[in-house]
Amino acid sequence: MAAVQRLLRAAASGGAATAVARRRMASLAQEQAPSAAAAQKGFPFAAERMRGLPAAERNVQWVFLGCPGVGKGTYASRLSRLLGVPHIATGDLVRDELASTGPLAAQLAEIVNQGKLVSDEIIFNLLSKRLKKGEDQGESGFILDGFPRTVKQAEILDGVTDIDMVVNLKLREDVLVEKCLGRRICSQCGKNFNVACIDVKGENGLPAIYMAPLLPPNNCMSKMTTRADDTEEVVRNRLRIYNDMSQPVEDFYRDQGKLLEFDLPGGIPESWPKLLHVLNLEDQEELKLAAA
Ligand code: ADP
Repeated sequence: MAAVQRLLRAAASGGAATAVARRRMASLAQEQAPSAAAAQKGFPFAAERMRGLPAAERNVQWVFLGCPGVGKGTYASRLSRLLGVPHIATGDLVRDELASTGPLAAQLAEIVNQGKLVSDEIIFNLLSKRLKKGEDQGESGFILDGFPRTVKQAEILDGVTDIDMVVNLKLREDVLVEKCLGRRICSQCGKNFNVACIDVKGENGLPAIYMAPLLPPNNCMSKMTTRADDTEEVVRNRLRIYNDMSQPVEDFYRDQGKLLEFDLPGGIPESWPKLLHVLNLEDQEELKLAAA
């Protein structure tokens, strides 16, 4: 983690430091490269690797990809609780910075509220600060959500550490827009909800899909807020940018044999058990429930 955090910081500072970081990344990558056999085995290998190990030794290093509104945050945070690793969402880091009185806030608001991507320099800075804080608190492993979002970010990450597995969540585009527009956040407890009731028929080869709303409890009801970038125009712009900039990241990891494609079959009650099943993690959940 320390090496990752230091090198991301070097990458963020650009210029000569980037060249040095890239050289260091290249040598680290050689030390850390998975064997060809492991890479070929891909995600089953990744899930096998941590099976049966105590949380502190598992150290999973996973990435969640997927369009805005697909539910990366929901499933990544559930898995992070199950596996005892931090869930690190670059969107959350950006929003924390936006909410602060720091010098970056105004600059970020303009970019984020148009649905555009923040510069790599800012993202690497925020991420390396977050990794440093986690390292100081003894964190190990991670589930990254919303990063990497460009091939350049993926290449830099690839140079500094070994990602075990990349989960690519998928959902039809009309549903993604509805889900983003239904997103609500409680301004007091920070929890995410969704007031949209998705009930679309199967047509043109697309599956029917039902997702019940995720409504807030009574004490959150009057404190619901909407993200400034969840308007229809901005959501459509984010989807366009995802297709242009982030879909190539899927190919990047597919070529490495690390991409696990997961079509969401419905809401959390249908999707969560299925996701645990494809990740070989049903036993982990049973153990956790039994211990609770
Ligand atoms: P989404 O719901 O669109 O997946 P996120 O919460 O992940 O949104 O991110 C919100 C915004 O934060 C993005 O639209 C973008 O402006 C910025 N952002 C987050 N992660 C990155 C990244 N890795 N690179 C560039 N910009 C990012």
